Order: sequence, then C-alpha cells, then structure tokens
Amino acid sequence: MSQIITLPHADRFFEIRLESIGGLGAHAAGQVLATAAVLRMGLNGAHFSSYGSEKKGSLVRSFVRLGPAERPIRNSAPVETPDAIVVFHAALLRSPATLAGLRKDGTFIYNAPPGVVPEELAALPRTARVIRVNALGIAMEEKSRPNAVLLGALSGQFPFLDTGKILEALSEEFAGKHPEAVASNERAFRRGATDFEVLEGVGHAEGDLPAARPEPAWGYETQPVGGIVPEPGNMAWNDLTASRIGLMPVLDREKCIHCGLCDLVCPDYCLSWGDGEPGGKFERELMGVDYRYCKGCLRCVESCPTGALTKETETAGLADRLRVPLFPDLIP
Ligand code: SF4
Ligand code: SF4
Repeated sequence: MSQIITLPHADRFFEIRLESIGGLGAHAAGQVLATAAVLRMGLNGAHFSSYGSEKKGSLVRSFVRLGPAERPIRNSAPVETPDAIVVFHAALLRSPATLAGLRKDGTFIYNAPPGVVPEELAALPRTARVIRVNALGIAMEEKSRPNAVLLGALSGQFPFLDTGKILEALSEEFAGKHPEAVASNERAFRRGATDFEVLEGVGHAEGDLPAARPEPAWGYETQPVGGIVPEPGNMAWNDLTASRIGLMPVLDREKCIHCGLCDLVCPDYCLSWGDGEPGGKFERELMGVDYRYCKGCLRCVESCPTGALTKETETAGLADRLRVPLFPDLIP
C-alpha cells in the first residue's frame, strides 16, 4: 500500500515557481519533480513552463502545482503566489518579478556562492525562509548541472517531498539519454539537499508579497498617435548578463596585440575598441569587454593567440568593475 502524503496546506495546492534562463534546465527540473510526485509519490501534479524567445539566455519560468491524489488540478495558469521560488541565476534577482507573490511562510532558494546577500532580497517577506545554494560551484565540482543541485535543494526543504523518489525520477530521466551523467547528477542532487546556507534576517516585508501582473505601457486610449514608437527597441538595449553561467572572458591589455581575432569570432560584438596612442603602433586598440552583451560563450578566449583573454570565474560585481561600455552615452 502506498504511503499517504500530507501536503503542507489542506485547503490549497502547493505551488512552486522556478525562475531561470534558457539553457539552465529549469524546465527539466520541474518536469522531473512533477513526474516523481505523480508517478512515484501518489500525488496529483501539473507542470508547464513559459518561455520568451525559446533561445539560450532568454527568460524561462517553470511552474509546478501539487495536490492530494483525490483533488483534480484544473488550473493551468502560471503560479503567481508560490509557496516556493527557486532562482537559477543570481542576475534574475535584479527583477522584482522574480520575487513577486511569494507567500509570507514561503521558501526562497537562490543559486549563488557564499558572500554578500544582494540588497534586492530585502524585499522578501520577513518571515520567509531564505536558502542560498552554490549550485554552479557544486555542479562544476561534480561535473553536473545547476538544475540537479537546485532540484536537490528544493526537495530537501520539504518533508513531504520524497528525495529518494525524486532522485529515482532524475536518474531515470538521464539513464536513457545520457547514461554517463547519471552518477554525477546523483552526487549533485544529494549535495544540493544537504549543502546549503539558511540566511537569517534577509527579508523585511510584512505579509505575502503582491503578485506581479504586468500592464501594457499603453492601451488604445493612451498610445501615441500616428504610429510613433517613442522608445524603439534595438540590440543596444539588450542585456545578456543573465546568459553567463559562471564564466567570463577577462582581458589583460599588457598581452594584447590588438589583432582583432576575438572580435571576428564574437557572436554578439561585445568587444570595445578605442583609438591607439597618437604615433603609436596601433591605430585602434582593444579596450575591454562590454559584459552587458557578453553571453559567456568564450569563443574569444579560445581564439586569442596571445593568452590576453582568459576564462575566469565570474564573482559578484566583477563584470561591473571590468566593463568597458560600447555605448557610454546611451546606457549608464
Ligand atoms: S584576440 Fe587576443 S590579442 Fe587579439 S585583439 Fe583579441 S584579446 Fe587582443
Ligand atoms: S565570451 Fe567572448 S566571444 Fe562570447 S560573447 Fe563574450 S566577448 Fe563575445
């Protein structure tokens, strides 16, 4: 006979929102969790994701709704007032929508190495549980991916979630497609379930956070006449910061011979050039990288013939300190 599982709230579903960017595996993590809940734990569950442009680096939200077996889930709307939020990339903390709707007794898990707590998290409920997991660091050590670590972290926070069964589902997911990854994912999952920090005194908000329901900037009564677009969108307004997953190129100008090979291979034109010294050897010199546009593919590092560009671990604030803006007049 299967064990009866008691969910935390008898009067409503347990809802989880995974906040991520394309390529970090939030959709797969939500799918594994819901599959384990339905097929192995005897719960009812629903899982779906919303994507932006469906490309690596764009915003992804994955939603999981769990309930007792006897209560059908007929709601397929996005999770607006979650019991748990898991943030796959610390850059997403800059957006208030990432925190929106968290319940006052909710759990907030985010991926970041130990260090200063971002000031944005003061907007969390005072009574919420805040967990920090160095998911990227653990994933790199275990040759796994952050989603396995964060799934372990999430599972480990709630007694009704059976970590053994979720781990079985995770292993089964990979056994068919990538059998070589099963053992490393298992290690990453187990470390996520135990290797985390509980942060105290982070949030200052009282009560549940309001849900985010973005309104269009203009309606039919307020939009400018004549088809004018006062704020045209273009690539200069893009911010690909959240596409980097822990590594970034760093330039040592002493070693640079300004050959431009890095610029030839960069898919996002994020290398900043300036005039060389008057009468000097180079007419144009590489000044640095505009990390606002850098997605961390590291092709520039691979192509650099002198080792002037190196692959470095991205620590908090490093990109902001080293950034050489391409459009200093346009973007602060
Ligand atoms: S490829 Fe290397 S040496 Fe050439 S411009 Fe780029 S950083 Fe400088
Ligand atoms: S890692 Fe290098 S090649 Fe890739 S986007 Fe950044 S600057 Fe361009």
